[in-house]
Amino acid sequence: MTKIEKKYRTALNDLIIYLKNSKLLTDNRVESALKNIPRHEFVPESELDYAYYNEPLPIMKNQTISQPGVVTRMTEWLDVKDGQKILEVGAGSGWQSAILSYLVGTGNVYSVERHPKLVKFAQENLKKLNIDNVHVILGDGSIGYPKESPYDRIIITAACTEIPLPLIEQLSENGLILAPVGDASQSLVLLQKTSKGIVEIRNESHYVFVPLVGKFGKK
Ligand code: SAM
Repeated sequence: MTKIEKKYRTALNDLIIYLKNSKLLTDNRVESALKNIPRHEFVPESELDYAYYNEPLPIMKNQTISQPGVVTRMTEWLDVKDGQKILEVGAGSGWQSAILSYLVGTGNVYSVERHPKLVKFAQENLKKLNIDNVHVILGDGSIGYPKESPYDRIIITAACTEIPLPLIEQLSENGLILAPVGDASQSLVLLQKTSKGIVEIRNESHYVFVPLVGKFGKK
């Protein structure tokens, strides 16, 4: 039995069945994260009835909490290990960072968000679940967060025309970086930094994210 309230349990179980049947959820550790980090704690009150729909939902400032199937796909691709240091660009509601924090265990997640209201929203949501290894920082995530670099994993949760160079620089050797890249529709691109250069590991099209703005964001 997980921590999730009875009221939401059926909806969560139905979502998990759907994600598994769609092959968007294949990893038991990610399934466990999904069960232990209740999405309804990260959506505004007006959206509670839809918390376990496989849909992005409005949070505030015209931004969204990402679709569960996209979050599970991205989390699986990131292949997070205990003790790692992760950078997220775009904290939004804090749900993706909370899922990563569960998987990173003794490690830490740094998440940069440009909207002060969303920084507060994410921090409050994380606090409700007593999550203390996620650090939400107000700033322009397109320049990364050099202070804590290098990172084992970097995830950008907003659409970019190209992956910002400062983020590649802040990735550790053998580290992975994941981002939606493109214009109106984006491809999820997973890259690895190796001693021989940057190598593309995975690429999957047909995603739609809100834009990454900022110095190295969309022009
Ligand atoms: N990961 C979030 C979650 O779990 O709720 C969803 C993120 S939402 C799809 C994209 C976020 O990226 C928005 O909150 C937006 O404000 C943020 N964003 C866009 N450009 C940014 C930038 N340059 N620096 C920091 N955050 C940025």
